[in-house]
Amino acid sequence: MQKEYEFDEAFRRDGGRAKSEIDLFTDIRRRFSAVNTFLKHSYPNLPEIHLDFIENDSLNAAATKYKGNYFIGINLGSYFLIYDMFMKMLASKSVWPKIGNNQLETDHKKILKAYINIYDKITFRFDNQDIAIPQDKLRLEFAILCTNHAFDFLIYHEIAHILRGHVGYLASLIENNFYWREFDNLSQRSKLPSDVSQTLEMDADSFATNRSLNIIASNLKDTKQVNEIFRFAFKDWSTILPIWVFSIYSLFRLFGYRQYAVEDAKKLSHPPSSIRMALIAGNIVTLFELKYGKELIPSVVKDIIESTKAAEDAFSEITFQEANWDIYRNSYTKESTDYIFSITDNWNKVRPVLEEYALGNLPPLKIIK
Ligand SMILES: [Zn+2]
Repeated sequence: MQKEYEFDEAFRRDGGRAKSEIDLFTDIRRRFSAVNTFLKHSYPNLPEIHLDFIENDSLNAAATKYKGNYFIGINLGSYFLIYDMFMKMLASKSVWPKIGNNQLETDHKKILKAYINIYDKITFRFDNQDIAIPQDKLRLEFAILCTNHAFDFLIYHEIAHILRGHVGYLASLIENNFYWREFDNLSQRSKLPSDVSQTLEMDADSFATNRSLNIIASNLKDTKQVNEIFRFAFKDWSTILPIWVFSIYSLFRLFGYRQYAVEDAKKLSHPPSSIRMALIAGNIVTLFELKYGKELIPSVVKDIIESTKAAEDAFSEITFQEANWDIYRNSYTKESTDYIFSITDNWNKVRPVLEEYALGNLPPLKIIK
């Protein structure tokens, strides 16, 4: 109980430890502990991390070091928003029409239970009773698979902030209790210049992408490791990668998509979602080049384009926002790609600072051509 108490104290400002306990949390805690055990093989110095839920309806997650211990806090609202998003998407006929029998889904438009304020802060509406669950069994399982992908990504991202020394570094700069928060309207972080902060976010996304694809590769080799209900998705890379990309793009879409001028984007704590997604796409291609098969790259690129478009359409299906895939496409203009390179090149400046705080090996310095 000591950890629960400390967790509550550490995240008191945001609402403290969630008071209710539901089955879904047990499932997430179990998956988190599996992830942790798995990571211990590669990172023997990984400290014990306590993950729990924060009594807060808005979309956020945070990592912190409190009284010498590491904590990851997930806002209740994050879980419900992600879950509600994929359930409603798959309960809509036009989303993934070839999965299961989409004709079983009802015709009315299912809207995400959320408030979005002018600062893009998104909050789950517990008062809204409009629950939609896909009628087709396979579509329901598909929605759960997407939720798991998105959630695991978020958890890996938070673990990376601890493992790679980001949290330890920030703890050395700030004496008071602090959080490494994800979605504070992307405003600048105190004590961390934006260029450093953005490179650390890129590092956490890159870690989450590497680990996620690593697990997929292992599951593809031995599908018996996969829960039976999800095995249909693990035939080969061309069945699972589009689902993974769809899930992660949707997660970022939930964080808010806005077209920023590059000069404004550089001032934020995190790169804008569309830029992060482009960084992740680049990362996926590199992983295929190095590990999963160069020959697959043309179809991987095609899958990324099609799945991000499909996710954009699916998001507009469950909100009143118009689909605008151009925001993502604009991440590939000359100006944006220069910006992307500035984030990755900055690793060479950031890495030496992190070395003292990292709890596992850091990626090598980048060779700049
Ligand atoms: Zn982060």
